[in-house]
Amino acid sequence: MLDRFRLDGKVALVTGGNRGIGLAIAKALGHAGARCLVTARRDNPDGEAELRVSGTEFDVARGDVRDPDMPARALAQCIERFGRIDILVNNAGVASHGHTETFDDERLELILSTNVASVFRFCREALPHLKAAGEGVILNVGSVSGFISNIPQNQAAYNASKAAVHMLTKSLASEFAPDGVRVNAVAPGYIDTDMTRGGFDNPDWDPVWRRMTPMGRYGQPEEVAACALFLCSPAASYVTGAVLPVDGGYLTR
Ligand code: NDP
Repeated sequence: MLDRFRLDGKVALVTGGNRGIGLAIAKALGHAGARCLVTARRDNPDGEAELRVSGTEFDVARGDVRDPDMPARALAQCIERFGRIDILVNNAGVASHGHTETFDDERLELILSTNVASVFRFCREALPHLKAAGEGVILNVGSVSGFISNIPQNQAAYNASKAAVHMLTKSLASEFAPDGVRVNAVAPGYIDTDMTRGGFDNPDWDPVWRRMTPMGRYGQPEEVAACALFLCSPAASYVTGAVLPVDGGYLTR
């Protein structure tokens, strides 16, 4: 039974795999036997060192996921280096807050192009390969913000972007199920990463989040990665179109 969590022989492409949740997912997939192509915009020697120490066989594709050519370049590098792709993890994302009336176009464009358009483009580029693999997998990183108007409340663009990721997940799941491609998402709550550290530079939010999370603590990237590994593995062979909260009970409110 535990063999069904193994990914030996599989190849995964993880966007934003150099730190935070993406790094933890790449390490988990690597631990299960997958080889990984991680994308990174910036150099992060610590992240690469962590991947190396974890024993994961990996390569790094540099670039900005907002660049419309990036998915094709990353896919080409993945196939040149590892010969195939079986799993696409769309993790790279940004958060930005501000009252809607003063939220400028630049920030709106940043959120939508990073969190939505790039995810769509990576899926579009990978799907022919995943169909060919016969049992391809897409795993998107959504958010509890895609379900409820989150704390902090001035997060309309981010919330909308993550709701779009959830609906993209469900739409692709039904469209490509006949081709043997499963498409799921994880919806993290408050996870201890650079994104949330310091309460988005607002220490007032930290105790609010803890109070709103029944488990009373932040999650760790590895706790999201464990759920991602399940959804990417043959153990989840009858799961598609699911958006799995990993949130310490936040959505039970
Ligand atoms: P981090 O800020 O720690 O990491 C973000 C990752 O995304 C980095 O690898 C970053 O790369 C990459 N990235 C961002 N923008 C781009 C871009 N334009 N091009 C290429 N790479 C980019 O955040 P998390 O690990 O916390 O977040 C990962 C995902 O999880 C995001 O989609 C986020 O929305 C989601 N999430 C996080 C939650 C949390 O509480 N932390 C809760 C719910 C969802 P680089 O280092 O090069 O900047």
